[in-house]
Amino acid sequence: MDGWRFEGFPGRVLYVDLSANTLETRTLPLAWCLEGMGGKGLATRVLVEWDTTEPAAYDLVHPVTGGSDVARHPSTPLLVFTGPFQGTKVGSAGRAVVVSRSPLTDVYIDTYVGGNLGHRLREAGWDGLFVTGASDALVRLEIADLEARLVPCPELKGATTWACEQALDGLGECFSIGSGGEAGVRFASPITAGRRAAGRGGTGAQFGFKRLKAITVSASTEARDLARIHDPEALAAAVNVQRKEMGLKRRAGDPFYAFGTSRGPLYASANDRMPTANYTAADGVVPPLASSAVAVAAAPPTSAPVPGMSVEGPVALDAHRLSGEHWHDAHPDAKQSGCCAPCPIACEAADRPTVDGVRTRGRPVHLNRVERPEYETLAMMGSNLGLTSSLDVMDGNDACNRLGLDTISSGAALSLVCELAERGWLPEAWGTTFVAPFALGPYAEGDAVTWRFGDAALPPLALAALCAATPGDGSLFGALHGGAVAFAEVVESLTGHPATRCTAHCKGLDLPAWDPRGKRGNALAYMTANVGASHMRAGYKAPTGLPRDSALDLVPELIESQNAIVVRDSLILCAFAKGASPDAMLAEAWTAITGDEATWSDLCQRAGVQWDLARAWNVAHWRSLGREAAAEDLLSWRLRKEPLPSGVAEGCVSFRDDDDEAACLSAYYRLRGWDAAGQPEVNA
Ligand code: SF4
Repeated sequence: MDGWRFEGFPGRVLYVDLSANTLETRTLPLAWCLEGMGGKGLATRVLVEWDTTEPAAYDLVHPVTGGSDVARHPSTPLLVFTGPFQGTKVGSAGRAVVVSRSPLTDVYIDTYVGGNLGHRLREAGWDGLFVTGASDALVRLEIADLEARLVPCPELKGATTWACEQALDGLGECFSIGSGGEAGVRFASPITAGRRAAGRGGTGAQFGFKRLKAITVSASTEARDLARIHDPEALAAAVNVQRKEMGLKRRAGDPFYAFGTSRGPLYASANDRMPTANYTAADGVVPPLASSAVAVAAAPPTSAPVPGMSVEGPVALDAHRLSGEHWHDAHPDAKQSGCCAPCPIACEAADRPTVDGVRTRGRPVHLNRVERPEYETLAMMGSNLGLTSSLDVMDGNDACNRLGLDTISSGAALSLVCELAERGWLPEAWGTTFVAPFALGPYAEGDAVTWRFGDAALPPLALAALCAATPGDGSLFGALHGGAVAFAEVVESLTGHPATRCTAHCKGLDLPAWDPRGKRGNALAYMTANVGASHMRAGYKAPTGLPRDSALDLVPELIESQNAIVVRDSLILCAFAKGASPDAMLAEAWTAITGDEATWSDLCQRAGVQWDLARAWNVAHWRSLGREAAAEDLLSWRLRKEPLPSGVAEGCVSFRDDDDEAACLSAYYRLRGWDAAGQPEVNA
C-alpha cells in the first residue's frame, strides 16, 4: 500500500470519469497542497486547473427558466475534498467539503458536511475525489483504502438517504442522495450519517445529474498508519490548547454547549434577523401582506387569494416555542450529542423515539432518532413558513434529511409559494392547493392541501410531491424544482405579477436565516461571497449596528474575516469551534501537521489567492453569458427596497441608500485589488 506522498497530505486524488466508467489516481504537486492548504483552497485550485467543462455546456437550457444551465452538463466537475485536520485529533474537524458549479446558481459552490466522511476519506489515503462525466445508469462509488470501484445500483433507485445507508451498511461512511437529488431538484443535498447535509447550492442534484447515488468510504488500520504528521508532539500540544478552551467555555455555561444553535430564534427575532413569512418581516411578527411595498406595483390577483394568517395579520409568533429550549421542555430525556467526532462541543441533541407508545431502549442510532433542529432550520422551515413551535419543524426537517434537500432553500421555496398563493398571484391553472401524497396530520392521502402559512403538515407533504414531479413540465411542482428564484421567474412570466420581488437571494442562492436588513455590513458579506447569500463566509467581531449607517468602514474587516474563514474551511474546522480555536493555535497545528512554517498571516494571504481564483472563475462564466459581475453581486429586490415592517430595524433596508450600496461595493473591489467591474487580476 502506498504511503502519503508528503507530510500532512496524501498528495493524491481519485479521478472518476463516469462517462468512460474509469477510475485513476492522480497526484498533486506539493506546492498546490501548501498554497491551497487542503480542503476548500486546494479543491478550488484543482477545480480551476482540471476543469473539464466543455463549451457545449453553454448550450444547455434550464428546463424551468430557459436560462443557462451549465451545471447540468455531464462535463461539470464535482469534487469532495478533505483538509489537513481530517484524520487527526483536532477537535470539531469531522468535516469534508463539496465543490462544484452549483445546480441552483450555476456559479461556484463550496459546501461542508459533518459526520466522519472527511476523516475516513483522508485516512484511506485521499486528499479528495474529482468526479466528471455522467453514468448511463445509477451507480455508487465504493472506496476501501486506495482501492475503488463503480458498482451499478438499480436497487437503490428512489431510496431515501436513510434506506441507502442501511442498504450499504458495512461499507464505511456513506454519502448519498435521496429522491431529491435523483430527480434533479436544484436544492438537493447529499447526506451522511442520516442527518448531516452538504446543504447549500444543490450539489445533491449534481450527484443526480451524474447518476451517482452514493459514495462509501472505509479505511483500514494499515491505511491509517500511513498518515505522515510532521511533528505529532507539537500537534498534540496545539490540540491541548483547543481542548482547554472548549473545557473553559463548557464550564462557564456557554449556552451553545447545551443548545447548539437552537436558541437562535430568541436572539434573531429580538434583533430583526429571523426570516418570517417569506422574508416579509424579521422579528417573528407576520405582517399583513397587503402592507408590503411589493403589493403597490401588483396587478389584480390572478386567482382568488387564499385566506391565511398573514392576510389578517399582524400575528406574533412565539420565539421561545420556536427555540430549542421549548424542544428540550418537550424532550426532557434528550441528550446532547456530537456527530463529527472528535468534537468536545457536541452541538446536537436527540431523544429516543417512542414506538407504539413504548420508548425504544438502548442508545439511539441515527436511523431512528428524534432530532432537535438547528437554528437555520427552525427559522427557514419554521418562522418563514409561519410555524411557531420547534416541535412542528421536526417533520419538515426529517423530510429534508430523508429526501436529501437543503432545509434553507426548501423553506425559501415553500414560503414563496405560500406568499404568492395568499396574494392570489399563482397562475389560475395551478390552483391554490395540491394533493397530499400520503396521510399526515389532518390530511388523508389524496386530500387537498392549501398553500398557506402556518400548516405544519405542509412541508413534508409538499417536499415529497416535489421530488415526484418532473422539472419544467408546466406544473407548479415542475417549476418549484428550480428553487424559489426560478419559480418566481416562471410565475412572473405567466401572470405578470412581480413575483421575483418576493424572493430573497444573492446570485440565486436563497438567503439563510439572517436578514441583512437588521445588521449593518451583512448585505455586503452576502454580495461578495463567491457562492452568493451564505452566512458562513464572513463575520464581524463586534455588533455593527443597523444599516441606517454606511458599512464603508467595515470593508477591511469583512475582507479579513473572509480570508480567515477560507483558512478554516481549507484546514476544515467546524465554524462553531472558531471561538475555542485561536488563530495562533490553528497555525501551530498546520505547521505540526505539514512542516510548513507559515504564520497565520501567511495562511490568510494564501486564502486571498483562493478567493480571487473562485471569483475569476465566476466572472469568466458571467462574461461568456454576456453578464456583468457587478450586477450579479446585487441582492434581490426585497432586501434592497422593501423596509422591514416592525422590530428594532423597522424601516431599514440592506444599505442606507443606493449610493451607499455602490460605494461599499466599489470600496470592496478596490481593497481586493480588483478592477472597477469586479474582475480580479488573476484572470486579467
Ligand atoms: S460543533 Fe456540532 S457541527 Fe461542529 S463539529 Fe461539533 S458536533 Fe459537528
